[in-house]
This record gives sequence, C-alpha cells and structure tokens, in this order.
Amino acid sequence: NTKDIKILLLENVNQSGKDILTGQGYQVEAHKGSLPEDELIEKIRDVHVIGIRSKTKLNEKVLREAKNLLVVGCFCIGTNQVDLEFAAHHGIAVFNSPFANSRSVAELVIAEIITLARQLGDRSNEMHKGAWNKVSNKCWEIRGKTLGIVGYGHIGSQLSVLAEAMGMSVIYYDVVSLMALGSAQQVPTLKDLLSQADFVTLHVPELPETKDMMSATQFEQMKEGAYLINASRGTVVDLPALINAMRSGKVAGAAVDVYPAEPRGNGDYFNNSLNGWEEDIRSLNNIILTPHIGGSTEEAQRAIGIEVADALVRYINQGITLSSVNMPKLNMRSLTLDEPNHARVSSLTCTSLTATTATDASQIVFIHQNVPGVLRKFNDILGSHNVDRQMSDSRGDVAYVMADVKDVETSDLEEIYDSLETLSSRILTRVLY
Ligand code: NAD
Repeated sequence: NTKDIKILLLENVNQSGKDILTGQGYQVEAHKGSLPEDELIEKIRDVHVIGIRSKTKLNEKVLREAKNLLVVGCFCIGTNQVDLEFAAHHGIAVFNSPFANSRSVAELVIAEIITLARQLGDRSNEMHKGAWNKVSNKCWEIRGKTLGIVGYGHIGSQLSVLAEAMGMSVIYYDVVSLMALGSAQQVPTLKDLLSQADFVTLHVPELPETKDMMSATQFEQMKEGAYLINASRGTVVDLPALINAMRSGKVAGAAVDVYPAEPRGNGDYFNNSLNGWEEDIRSLNNIILTPHIGGSTEEAQRAIGIEVADALVRYINQGITLSSVNMPKLNMRSLTLDEPNHARVSSLTCTSLTATTATDASQIVFIHQNVPGVLRKFNDILGSHNVDRQMSDSRGDVAYVMADVKDVETSDLEEIYDSLETLSSRILTRVLY
C-alpha cells in the first residue's frame, strides 16, 4: 500500500521531487539539512526510501541499520557518498540524476572564460574596495581563442557548442573516440590539448585515473598565460601545483568550483581548513573561487527533483531499475527497444512485450545472489501460476528477476513470498500488486 511507504528526504530536496512523492500518497518527512550520523542511523531504521544529496554519507555502518530500506534516491549527480556495493548486496537500489544539470555547468564555464579573459573578478574586487583601476593589458576577447575541453561527455559537448557560437575554436581530449560537434576536433593526448589551448576546462569523472590529472607536469605543458577551469571534481587538480603555476605566471587565471574535501554545509570553509593551500589560493589574482555551484540553478534542481522522484516511484510501484546505478537495469512495464542490451527476457509464457501498462497481474521481484540454479527454483515456485511475463538480468554477483503473475489470490502471493524467502540465494523479495 502506497500509504505505508515511509520516505525521508534530507538536504532540502527540490519541491518538484517532494510533490511527486507526496502525490503518490507516500508518507514523506523532509529536512532542510543533512543529519549527524547518530541521528541518521536512528531515522533510517524506520524508512523504506531515503532521498539525499551529496552531504549525507550512506556508508556500511549506516546502511547496516537500514533494515526496511528499499531504495536510495541521490538528488544529485554523484553517488560516491553511498556504499553502492553494500547497498546492492542488501537489495537496496540506488538512483541518481547524472545529467540534469549539464547545461548549468556549461553556462557557468562560458561565464568564467570571459570573466578570466577580462579579469572581471579583480576589477570588481578593486571597485568594492574603492579603487578605479582601468586596465587593458593582458585582457582579451575570447573570439578566435582555443578552448581545450578535457572529457567530452554531457557537459563537455554542450560547452563545445556554446563556445563555438562565441567564435572560439574547440579541441577536446577524451579516453574514448567521440563524434565532434560542430567544427570541434578531438586530439589524441592530454599533452596535445595542453600545448594548444588558451583555455583548459576539465569535465572528467572522479576516478583513480583522473586524480591529480592536472599537476606540475601538466601545468608545464600548458601555453604561457593560459587559463584553467575546474568544475569537475576536486581530486582532478593538484591545487598546490596550480598555485605555483599561477605564481610563476604560466597560468594567467583559474576558476575553481570543486575542492578535494568539501564541507557538509554552508559556513566557514577556508578559514577552518588545514590543508595548507587555502591562504595561498585566496591571495592569488584572477582566480574565481566558487563553492561547487556548477549545477546549482533553479532549473537544474527542479529537473533533478523530477528525474529522481520519477525513478523512485517507478521502482517502488513497479520494480523498474532502468536508471539504477547499482542494480541490473530492468523495465518490464514498457519493454521497448530503449535498452535492449540491458535486459534479457526468459519466457515462461512471455506475451505482449510491447505492452506499456500493467494488467491485472501481480508482480514478483526477487533480488538474489548471482549463483547457478536460482531461476530454476524461482520458476518452480511460480510454476503452477500463470506467469504473464518474466525478465532477469545480473550485475556482478547480484541478480534481479521480475515476473508478472496473473489472476492470483492474496493467499497465493503470500505462499510465493514465503517460498522465495526460504531460498538461500535470496537478498530481497517484493510482491507488488
Ligand atoms: P560524462 O560522464 O557525461 O562525461 C565524462 C567524460 O569524461 C566522458 O566522455 C569520458 O569518456 C571522459 N573521461 C573519463 N575518464 C577520462 C580520462 N581519464 N581522460 C579523459 N577523458 C576521460 O560526465 P559529465 O556529466 O559531463 O560530468 C563531468 C564532470 O563534471 C564529472 O566529474 C561530474 O561529477 C562533474 N560535475 C560537476 C558539477 C558541478 O556542480 N561543478 C555538476 C555536474 C557535474
């Protein structure tokens, strides 16, 4: 029953998301901030769904207490605040919204390119302090300059189009070969990009391979007086190396939106940080320091709220895992050709694959360890019923099977549930009707 579903939303999840969840009749409790770990553990014991953003850490210690938790909605891009493996092994699906704010980040970077080229931050700071300092030396138009985009994914490729519209030449470096938009050109190595670009902007994910991707060697490889923009992840740039490169004049300006360790909430940051580079970075000229606001627009927050809440509703009500980050991706409600590679259909009486709405069937969802023989046992348990449709898939050592069973009594469903619960491979059984 939807009224029995308890949802805890933390970190001021957007109203668009709350509206969708309350509209379903779920019990929704929303908090503006994140919770200290002990309070989080207390609350999470009771809920079926938790919605968080980047500050709430759902580590093993917290998730172990989440006995009723079915699903986590990360109303943000990143999911490294959640122990995804532990969650999957305990049948907890995790969803996020990877691309709803791509445009916002791309627009911010465009603003920063001009701001750095014209030293707008410095002029504005000077005026705030009362000084009139009209300067044209080393201030540039961006028309005709080369933008080097590192990581040509959702953000990098949007940026490519916007930058070309303003007369920039675009080159990009990516680990995969990607079709260029407009007149942009892919270059084979990061070094090639750094040696040609007037502006270097980073749009790669946080990975072991991208840690300190821009360090002393890479700053050396940049053009004299080039600019660096990092709105990707804080680990990608070695900040002390950037500080040195700016002090030497090699780098003429930088915009930094993300930091190796970011605080849990608004308030004092640099004044309390102990990394040793905070004072130095603040003392530099022509550096824009922003508190991870690349995706922070009303439009992006609204889009994220809708995208994640929709995914949660589809998972709670229909078991659909299509955009999950830690479960096999299955969608039995509208089996179109959208994601044919993610799903394989094993048919008992597999009919009507193009149907988009549920019939009078009840749905069985069984999350289990990916070991031999489970589907045979699953089908034995369902064997005497009319299985309308069935799908299964695996991801690592976790597997997911869904079946629509037609014309079953509640007592049959209880029996099916109890039988599935006895299987040693069981992680989680759900019956949706
Ligand atoms: P994406 O996955 O669409 O694109 C990333 C691209 O980087 C891919 O094309 C991938 O092939 C490439 N890549 C991966 N490893 C690479 C490597 N070692 N060298 C070169 N290229 C590599 O991601 P996206 O949505 O464009 O996001 C990019 C980054 O921006 C991510 O780190 C994301 O977390 C960050 N982000 C920041 C904000 C913000 O508020 N500042 C907002 C959204 C996203």
